[in-house]
Amino acid sequence: MELVVTRNFGRPESWTLASYREAGGYEALERVLKEMTPEDVSDLIKDSNLTGRGGAFFPTGLKWEFVRKDPKTPRYVVVNADESEPGTYVNRLSLELDPHMTIEGMIIAAYASNAERGYFYIRGEYGLSHERVKAALREAYEAGYLGQGICGRDDFNLEVEFRRGAGAYIVGEETALFNSLEGKRGNPRFKPPFPTNFGVWGLPTAINNVETLAAAPAIVMNGAEWFKDLGIGDAAGTKMYCLSGNVVNPVCVELPLGVTAREVIMDHGGGVPEGRTFKGFKPGGASSAPLTPAEIDASLEPKSMAELGTIMGTGGVVVFDDTACMVDAAYRDALFFEDESCGFCIPCREGTPNLVQICERIMHGQGTMDDLDLLEELGASMMASFCGLGHFAHQPVRGAASRFRDEFEAHIRDHYCAAGTCFTANGNGRAG
Ligand code: SF4
Repeated sequence: MELVVTRNFGRPESWTLASYREAGGYEALERVLKEMTPEDVSDLIKDSNLTGRGGAFFPTGLKWEFVRKDPKTPRYVVVNADESEPGTYVNRLSLELDPHMTIEGMIIAAYASNAERGYFYIRGEYGLSHERVKAALREAYEAGYLGQGICGRDDFNLEVEFRRGAGAYIVGEETALFNSLEGKRGNPRFKPPFPTNFGVWGLPTAINNVETLAAAPAIVMNGAEWFKDLGIGDAAGTKMYCLSGNVVNPVCVELPLGVTAREVIMDHGGGVPEGRTFKGFKPGGASSAPLTPAEIDASLEPKSMAELGTIMGTGGVVVFDDTACMVDAAYRDALFFEDESCGFCIPCREGTPNLVQICERIMHGQGTMDDLDLLEELGASMMASFCGLGHFAHQPVRGAASRFRDEFEAHIRDHYCAAGTCFTANGNGRAG
């Protein structure tokens, strides 16, 4: 299969400008600036059906067009590299191994959006990514790909600032990221207005995920149809899927968007370790509801995942074998969201600790069957939360309690944990 965003990963010193140029890097930008108008670029990206790889899957070309059409100036382009979803590390690899591809995509996005200022915002804990991206931005400035009069075009300028996050998961939400950029507490903002009209500093902003931007140069060079044809069915292009959990090869692979979970887990991940039984998987990191082995032939793309009541997220596939307790797994997700809730709105601020407490009761042998109904009620009330964190935080717990109900009931009725992680002398996590 043809690779798009990971095609340079194996090259020597792939993170340097010299290596990127040897592989044809920045040729797409030069073509754009010589042969295309901003409208041509956003139309091409719209035709390619490239959608946001950060989990929302919003049409990328349309986003750039919205920003360009807003008369307020200056317009901004922002790289959202605040990748923090447990079980996801696709952006980290791109930032470490090929930062110039994302930078080139960012400059193309700025041109299509008529943006002249930008921010590259990276998750606080990504040390090597910071070094590589900062060095790559410096190289791009020195080579005339950033700054004033880019590639000799005196009508196209882009000044980019590098920003490092402080470790808050919620700042991956785009409006919280804007607040963080503005030096405010990283709470989400009310939407609408949307970032394309009211982004950072209240100005039109094209904010895109790393993987989305990295795909743009290849689309310019190869065309919209080429990109569309790389996907399966209605899904266009490729996606980086990363594996973790009870899997033999915890790898990150670029595959057609819409590939089955079986191909990712069994063919590329090698399945669960020998002697173990495959119990289930989460298709999109901590926020996603887990699925069962019977659902392994589902396509890993947003529509199919939504039909199963879960989410595709950013492609972080987490695998469970029979050594994993699904109550414990749900509990750990709940702990994470309790910790990361920004506390701004009541349904999430109160709901996330309640999820933790229900899981703890069940793991301690103090749960009742009413707790399973309570989970449903709590989840419904959390849908009134202000932002996506509250909307998704209950999904992994409710999803586990629904699809792995036998396991939850065994904990409640029989005080029995088949994986042997609950009701032990040591216990597990905070429940111990
Ligand atoms: Fe903050 Fe959670 Fe409310 Fe989002 S849902 S604003 S993270 S408290």
